[in-house]
Amino acid sequence: MGQSFNFQGILQAFRVLASPRLMIPNLVVRDIRDINFEQLHKAGIVAIAFDKDNCLTRPYGNELHPPFEEAWKKCKEVYRDKVVVVSNSAGTQDDKDHQGAIAIEKALGVHVLRHQQKKPAGGDELLHYFDSTPASQIAFVGDRALTDIVFGHNYGMLTILTRQVVTEQGDNPMAVQIRRMEHRVLDLLDRMNIRAKEHAIPIDASQLQKATPSASASSEK
Ligand SMILES: [Mg+2]
Repeated sequence: MGQSFNFQGILQAFRVLASPRLMIPNLVVRDIRDINFEQLHKAGIVAIAFDKDNCLTRPYGNELHPPFEEAWKKCKEVYRDKVVVVSNSAGTQDDKDHQGAIAIEKALGVHVLRHQQKKPAGGDELLHYFDSTPASQIAFVGDRALTDIVFGHNYGMLTILTRQVVTEQGDNPMAVQIRRMEHRVLDLLDRMNIRAKEHAIPIDASQLQKATPSASASSEK
């Protein structure tokens, strides 16, 4: 299952040129192991959505990246039925009979959102899934600034970027190049002291991030 052309993604890239803060996450972590899910929940973020490829699994894979097992278990314990995966492949029209979504649900043990529009569009479909939960109380976690982070900001969610990818092997070559470019732009914006827009719920980033220095899962080059 591949991904068809993401026209919304191109359009949004131009919006970001006018407002670069749209691509700056509220919180940057190494990977999902560094998210303190209990604290995040206590801070008022009561629902959470994840990108899949290179955030939870290897590119186009269904299985959780094995080093993430413990963190993922913790996330599901804390968030229960308020965890969902939003992929730009599985669960979309590219996913015939949603076979991909069904396989991922089996492997990851959470719902995969069925949606028409691709990130960074389509947030209404996620908000609809979480029913009456205000967007400000939802976190979106992903590895891509121009899709996942812009998507979260567009709809008023708390945004968390996983900076260290699972692997670049087997990823879409264009996505690899764009992600590297995003990291360079984020570093530049940081040096320019340009920060993410303040989130509606005041968050203490140091409380939400676990300090786990060992970095064994990366193969980012
Ligand atoms: Mg991804």
